[in-house]
Amino acid sequence: MTTGKINVQTENIFPIIKKFLYSDNEIFLRELVSNAVDATQKLKALNSIGEAKGELGDLKIEVLVDKDAKTITIKDKGLGMTAEEIEKYITQIAFSGAEEFVNKYKDKVDKNVVIGHFGLGFYSAFMVAKKVEIYSLSFKEGSKAVRWECDGSPEYQIEENNTQSSRGTSIVLHIADDCEEYLEKFKLEGLLTKYCKFLPVEIKFGTKKDRVDTGEKDEKGEVKLTEVEVDNIINNPNPAWTRKPADLKDEDYNSFYRELYPMQFESPLFHIHLNVDYPFNLTGILYFPKLTNKLEVPKDRIQLYCNQVFVTDNVENIVPDFLTLLRGVIDSPDIPLNVSRSYLQADGNVKKIASHITKKVADKLEEIFKKDRAEFEKKWDDIKIFVQYGMLSDEKFYEKAVKFALFKNTDGKFFTFEEFENQVKPLQTNKDNKLVYLYATNVQEQHAYIDAAKARGYEVLLMDTMLDPHYINSLESKLKDVSFVRVDADTVDKLIQKEENTISKLTEEQQKELQPVIEDTISKEQFNVVFENLSETDSPMLITRPEFMRRMKDMNQLGGGAMGFYGNLPEMYNLVVNSNHPLISKILSETDKDKQSTLAKQATDLALLSQGLLKGESLTKFIKRSVEMI
Ligand code: ADP
Ligand code: MG
Repeated sequence: MTTGKINVQTENIFPIIKKFLYSDNEIFLRELVSNAVDATQKLKALNSIGEAKGELGDLKIEVLVDKDAKTITIKDKGLGMTAEEIEKYITQIAFSGAEEFVNKYKDKVDKNVVIGHFGLGFYSAFMVAKKVEIYSLSFKEGSKAVRWECDGSPEYQIEENNTQSSRGTSIVLHIADDCEEYLEKFKLEGLLTKYCKFLPVEIKFGTKKDRVDTGEKDEKGEVKLTEVEVDNIINNPNPAWTRKPADLKDEDYNSFYRELYPMQFESPLFHIHLNVDYPFNLTGILYFPKLTNKLEVPKDRIQLYCNQVFVTDNVENIVPDFLTLLRGVIDSPDIPLNVSRSYLQADGNVKKIASHITKKVADKLEEIFKKDRAEFEKKWDDIKIFVQYGMLSDEKFYEKAVKFALFKNTDGKFFTFEEFENQVKPLQTNKDNKLVYLYATNVQEQHAYIDAAKARGYEVLLMDTMLDPHYINSLESKLKDVSFVRVDADTVDKLIQKEENTISKLTEEQQKELQPVIEDTISKEQFNVVFENLSETDSPMLITRPEFMRRMKDMNQLGGGAMGFYGNLPEMYNLVVNSNHPLISKILSETDKDKQSTLAKQATDLALLSQGLLKGESLTKFIKRSVEMI
């Protein structure tokens, strides 16, 4: 037996490891299993070039847990290590590397930020084990099996061990008392599925019962199944993203989506297969999910892998923010996972990756739009939020998206930006030569206004999502000479200002006389009474909400920050009195003051009612009054 001393200043490595790494100690399993995968892949490579001879046989990796002995074993049939190799690769490099790491980073980075993403490799075993053993037999001819043991102190032992006769390595972890949770089967299996689900070599974790075809048929002529014990393989070694797009059908993409999100019953809308090898390596599949609830935006659904090893599902700073709404996987060996997140943002590769993904997504959307517009329109309601978010947050994406982004009118008809501009130019250009885009946020509530606008031949867009207020603001600054006006922002005549209608049936004196009568019917804090010269056939009274005020309120609700001041203003409306309507003349000419006020009240209530603003006691009174008047 040989004993050696690891050349580090620290007396005991446990305190360091526990102190620095404890917060995310579960990664030990990922590290050890991926070492086993590496050893297997290396052996296969050596075999293919003739350096490792003969049949390789079954190369399955096995993870075993023994609750009584309190051990977890990771066993591979890879290339194995000789005693010299263990001393070289495990003790010298690994330990000194870790020591270096700790010294280098202890003052510089927040350990919680770094550790989860730092592959400490073999060394991470000591995060959960009080003692680690390695049993190994190298593939090299004439090698002797060895056993290495270390309890975390700088001393280790290495000896010949003749109990092992087959090629490969077993790492035995003697689990520390405060980490016994890892000895639970379900816990371990959970970790394996989290980190190792798509590793390229089969990983067995115990067995499971499966029903297989016996080859016989029962009395009814149906296939007879029988229950057998089979290996419980926890991973899919050939996940869809590692395969060629040409070899995959839509069903394959959909079933891979299910594999990633077993609880997701809806199929994705479409997918994008990423495949880049220059100037960086990146593969992956992104899915546009069908959003079930427009208001709840699920994030953290894209999984990041490094050579099929799960790293994180927090892809912030790697994927452009608006695309974190997508789902799927990204696999890149070129993302520097071992450094802090603030560093990531500055990394050149990461920036390129982000812009590449943005471009791919925009190209795919454009492709669907061009190839099958009807299909694109059908999906529009679901993808609208991604497109809008992208257009709002990413200039490059905006430039591409203006070609395929759609407007939808209140009748469900779609227009591209260009089509819409051409459509409304003749009727919706105002006296200042600006285009006025009318929109509604609620077809039911704004029904009367939408109707009035349509009667004039205007188009009314439907803008009813949570991002629309921001979107509208942003489009106004980007589209030339376009302003958006909500359909109830003013009377239909004034929505798109053309030449003024100056003919009024009421003189200024008459308006002044009527003003207080109408003001008495409503709250002065909330309503501003204004006279307008509308046509006789328009309503006698109307309630409008100035575009500016309403928009400030909407933005404030979305958390627009500086909008706080406007958000706190009371709800303000205009009560527009149509000077040209016969009913208004009738109210004016009524000499009985009580009757006059009843008429005025009735007319205001009707206007409130059509806006859904007449409620509770006021509504009861209105109904009673109406009955009396009939
Ligand atoms: P890394 O995997 O980044 O090289 P590790 O600390 O995980 O660092 O492993 C150090 C080295 O130990 C590996 O490069 C490999 O040479 C060797 N090694 C670790 N585990 C195994 C194994 N199961 N079979 C063969 N060699 C191994
Ligand atoms: Mg490793």
